[in-house]
Formats: sequence, C-alpha cells, structure tokens
Amino acid sequence: MSTPSQWDALLADDRAHIWHPYASATDPGVIVPVTSAEGVRLNLADGRQLIDGMASWWCAIHGYNHPVMNRAVRAQLEDMAHVMFGGLTHPAAVKLARILCDLTPDSLTRVFFSDSGSVAVEVALKMAVQYWQARGEPGKRKMVALRSGYHGDTFGAMSVCDPVTGMHHLFGDVLAKQFFVPAPECDFDADCPESELDDITDLLSRHHGEIAAVILEPVVQGAGGMRFYSPDYLRKLRALCDAFEVLLIFDEIATGFGRTGKLFALEHAGVEPDLLCLGKSLTGGYMTLAATLCTERLASTISGGEAGAFMHGPTFMGNPLACATAIASIELLLSQPWQRTVERLGTELKEGLAPAADLEQVSEVRTLGAIGVIELKQGVDLRQVTPMFVERGVWVRPFGKLVYAMPPFVMQSDDVATLTAAMVDVVAKLEH
Ligand code: PMP
Repeated sequence: MSTPSQWDALLADDRAHIWHPYASATDPGVIVPVTSAEGVRLNLADGRQLIDGMASWWCAIHGYNHPVMNRAVRAQLEDMAHVMFGGLTHPAAVKLARILCDLTPDSLTRVFFSDSGSVAVEVALKMAVQYWQARGEPGKRKMVALRSGYHGDTFGAMSVCDPVTGMHHLFGDVLAKQFFVPAPECDFDADCPESELDDITDLLSRHHGEIAAVILEPVVQGAGGMRFYSPDYLRKLRALCDAFEVLLIFDEIATGFGRTGKLFALEHAGVEPDLLCLGKSLTGGYMTLAATLCTERLASTISGGEAGAFMHGPTFMGNPLACATAIASIELLLSQPWQRTVERLGTELKEGLAPAADLEQVSEVRTLGAIGVIELKQGVDLRQVTPMFVERGVWVRPFGKLVYAMPPFVMQSDDVATLTAAMVDVVAKLEH
C-alpha cells in the first residue's frame, strides 16, 4: 500500500508521461492505480480492493498471482527468458505447438507464434494472401469481414474491423479496402436460415476471383458489440467458402480457452477453419503471446511458393517465458472441471444481471458461457461510470452501449453476486 502522497505522485507522473489505450493523452479521465493483484482482486494503492469483472481484458482466466502459474514462470526464467526464434528452437515452444495442434481441429497442423492478438490476425491475413500468390492466383487478395466484427488495432487488422461501428473509421482512407457483409442475426441456440447468408453468397459468387479469405469471430463478436450468433451460420459459411475456393479464418483471440463454454468456440459448430488466431487467455493473461494455426495445405503451398518462406518474423516470436506460461495455463485449465465452472459462472451472471432487463435504460440483457452483457438504450450516458464501479468495489469497464462482465474463471459465487449487483445498480443510476 502507498501513502496518499506517493499515490498522488504516481498519478501525476502517469498523467505527465503515459498515453493510455483509447484515451486522450492530456485528459485520460479517471485512472486507477493498482499495486498488486491476488485471485480475482485488484489491490489499489490506497488499500481498497476491486473484484475484477474484466479478467484484464478477458485474458486472466486463472486470476492473479496463481501459484502454479508463478512457478512455471520462475522455472522458465532459470533456463532462459528469451532467445531469438530464427534458426533456433526451444522446448517450451515445441511443447506448446504440439499442445495447440492436439487441442484444435486435426487439420490445423502448423503454429506460427507472435506477440499479440492483432499480430496473429496480421499473420493470418498475410498467410491467406501468400497462399493464393503461391497458387498462381495473386488477384485473390481481398478479405471479407462481418459488420460488428473486431480483429485488432494494427493496419491489416483494422481493415477487417467494422468500418462504421468500429473504432477505426478515422483511418478509413488509408486502410486496405475490404468487403463487408451484415453480421448474422440468428440466435445462438437456433438454426440459421439460408437467407442470413444471401449477401455473402452473392458477394462470393461475384468476387471470389479477388477474395483470399473470410475472417470472423466464431459465435461471439466481442469488441464490435458483444453479439452472440448461431453456430449454424459457421457450418453454412464453411460450405460456401469451399464452394467458392475462399479461405476461412477464425479469430478466437477472445473466445479461445473456454470463455464460451467450449474450449474453442468453433466446437459449437464442429467447423474447421483454414486459419485460427489465438491470443489473450493463451497464457492465462500472464504474458503477451499469440498464435496463428494453419493447415498443412497452406503451410506447404506457401513454402513452395516464389518466396519459399512465409515473410514474417517478430523479434519476440515464441518467447520462452510466454510459451512456458501458456503450457502451464492450458494444463491448469484442463486439470479442472472447467466446463462446470464456466457453466456455473454463466448461470450466476444470468441470474445476477436479470433484474437489469426491467430497467428503462436497458435494451437487452444476454449471457453466453462466462460472458454477461447489459446492452443500454441509445442515449444513456456512460461517461462518469468508472468511479461508480470503484465505489462499489468492482472493476467493470463498459464500452459503447455495453456494460459487460467476463470474469476470471476462479471467481467464486459471492463475488459474482457482488459484481452483478454493482452492474445492475450502476446501470439503474445512469441518466437516460
Ligand atoms: N481479435 C479479437 C477477437 C479481439 O477481441 C482482440 C482484442 N480485443 C484482438 C483481435 C486484438 O488482440 P490484441 O489486443 O492482443 O492485439
């Protein structure tokens, strides 16, 4: 714990030198200093604690300061923290690649490591383009993406985010021009009528000669609106992509490792993509690591192409500390009845958030897996919301019209109750 003057000094320095995400440098709003974290609690500089409803942007599935995770980091640290991956390899990367190939669909046999979700998406887009070049079809280089989709903040990733509701419309003119189709409207637990795919069918039939791949977040569209849709859409989309010879990229950066109730959201549909992007919970939120998995067909075609190589190689690719942490995180997850845990969290989020459905500020309450969302009506003022959550002892960071929770899987029932009660209470007090 710090003294109030130490805390003030820290915040003054933060204000002077740091630029926070999606924030003004000069007026970033309320910034809350955290000095340590344990389980699902963030310890603030003034001694208060917050129950973390965000799992640190959806990645800290085991919570903080987990002894198993800490041991894995320390053990790898004793061997080496980092080593270049060009021309060298190491046990943690090899073991992790094997685990990822074992857990994902059989057709995905190759792993390309990177250091953030956005870069894993860049890698997938580049692989798709290089694949068609190597096949002698360089004209196939555009992407199809869904409205309300989100895939990251780098240039390629931004180009496939929803250009209207997404956060990147300012860059519109400099981004690669991609094709967009409406997001599916079919409910998660219903079949998806063929008509939902009319637009994409029409697009692929007319432009498949220019299209390298379709990219989407399976079942849950996250940062573009926290929307859930029918897995049946993915089955129908796979058939379309096959018919028109277009690759299918699943971005499971947010959904991977249990969040939707399956280890990967693609399992709801039983569909195998050509490329799969993973990140966030891959290391249980301990280290920055991401991965792009692809089929042997893609890997061998790209490798047999003109370049004879895939042209990408981040400095921190396959970082040993990150790989060892990812192995520990996956083994820890799979050693527990995690499906039951996610189911319990889902039930508790649903029950806890249900009273919000009656509030005049709210348009919809929805849950899936360990995700709970309150969607507000247009015009509800969310600006002063951070201090209201901090006062209630929880950490929730809304965006757009959405007040949502994606808690660490280790959150106990009483903390979920505190979290959801705070969400309902804060929403009830918002001005409409
Ligand atoms: N894809 C999806 C589906 C995401 O949710 C995110 C992050 N919110 C990203 C890509 C980008 O990941 P990162 O922030 O690690 O670059």
